[in-house]
Amino acid sequence: MSEMRYISTRGSAAALGFEDAMLTGLAADGGLYMPESWPQFSAADFAELRGRKFEEIVLRICLEFVGGSFSEAELKPMIDQSYSRFRHPARCPLRQLDNNLHLLELFHGPTLAFKDFALQLVGRMFAASLQRRARRSVIVGATSGDTGSAAIEAFRGLESVDMFILFPEGRVSEVQRRQMTTASDSNVHAIAVDGDFDACQARVKDMFNDAGFRQEFCLGAVNSINWARIVVQAAYFVAAALQLGAPERGVTFAVPTGNFGDVFAAYVAKQLGLPIDRLIVATNRNDILHRALTTGSYRTGPVSATYSPSMDIQVSSNFERALFEASDRDAPRIVELMCRQGGFEIPGDMLDRLRSDYVSGRVSENQTLSRIGDIHARTGQAVCPHTAVGIETAYSVSDTNSPVIALATAHPAKFPDAVRHATGTEPCLPDWMAELMSLPERMIRAPDSLPDLQAIIRERVSA
Ligand SMILES: *Cc1c(COP(=O)(O)O)cnc(C)c1O
Repeated sequence: MSEMRYISTRGSAAALGFEDAMLTGLAADGGLYMPESWPQFSAADFAELRGRKFEEIVLRICLEFVGGSFSEAELKPMIDQSYSRFRHPARCPLRQLDNNLHLLELFHGPTLAFKDFALQLVGRMFAASLQRRARRSVIVGATSGDTGSAAIEAFRGLESVDMFILFPEGRVSEVQRRQMTTASDSNVHAIAVDGDFDACQARVKDMFNDAGFRQEFCLGAVNSINWARIVVQAAYFVAAALQLGAPERGVTFAVPTGNFGDVFAAYVAKQLGLPIDRLIVATNRNDILHRALTTGSYRTGPVSATYSPSMDIQVSSNFERALFEASDRDAPRIVELMCRQGGFEIPGDMLDRLRSDYVSGRVSENQTLSRIGDIHARTGQAVCPHTAVGIETAYSVSDTNSPVIALATAHPAKFPDAVRHATGTEPCLPDWMAELMSLPERMIRAPDSLPDLQAIIRERVSA
């Protein structure tokens, strides 16, 4: 098993193996870890995976990236345990929605959103790594809703981890909030911050940039900047494409996008050799990515609250990875762009490269609701607002010849208000989740302030 090395998009942090890159999260120079090179799958390698169980596809892909950190014998049981908690035997079933449009259902995991795919496994990999190093870690994360619940579900009860999840108070749905605040385990802490998601994410970055604090608590991150999450997610793009004729036939994916993690996982699948014609980046009215890809101007604006809160983001962390690729891995150029306050113009050559992989669209609040209503009327199925944003964008980017796979990123019952508004019917939580709405809640309220947040962490970890 050869060891894959990970390098920082900003070029000055030391290269690390998979395990250290996972435990570290953000690189010490502020960059994001990327594999030093892309493994290649041949058409025969892909064909060999067709018809296999989802777990086998995850294993095959992960083994290319974890070399030197986890053996096949270690990884296989972790993968099997992770997906045994999913409530659909296919884990990510594909459902035909229209002539050329298919829905990839990614909401059958324990917290009903796609984040479970990666976090269930990353939680187990973290626990295994910390155990063999006889180490503890404090994991801090910011969430616009679904990462927090999926992370808490994956790490609750672990001896070696204290977890602090910052979420924007009042900006997540009730189901999302309850999924974070009803975990009774003493190692998990949900912090309601008086600010928006970008503020939460900025405070987490501040904690990582405080070298003393970072070392004292062995900070770890499980936001989608964590490479381990991205690589696990690449598996469902492969699984879905194989079902629709890959590697002989190309496919297009429509991905509701916030932090650019999920759509970048699709790019990873493409780098492995999966024939992906287009990656459709779907945004709501927080459209920085759509503006960047259409005008070349990457400029942050104020975040506005929408029906699709998990995409209410104006600073899209993983976009740095896409820029790194588009620059031919020119780290000094990335440093220069990322250090400009308020945003930057994407250089022409990089913009051309980005546009050869990604197309984008923006969807209004009204379009989101009417698309939910339209699908419900035609198929009887309710979709969540994020999913509707992806589907709407797929329809608007009409010049694609290949089959389009739209990602259903969350269960509609996580966002009942929007779905009721659009369809007149209340989407039901699965029976096994019914108790969520009656369990007692526990959360810490905090101002948008680094010293206050650090004090909260210091106090709870020592306790
Ligand atoms: C996190 C999330 C997204 C956005 O995914 P990114 O990887 O941040 O781009 C979209 N939809 C739902 C339901 C999510 O939870």
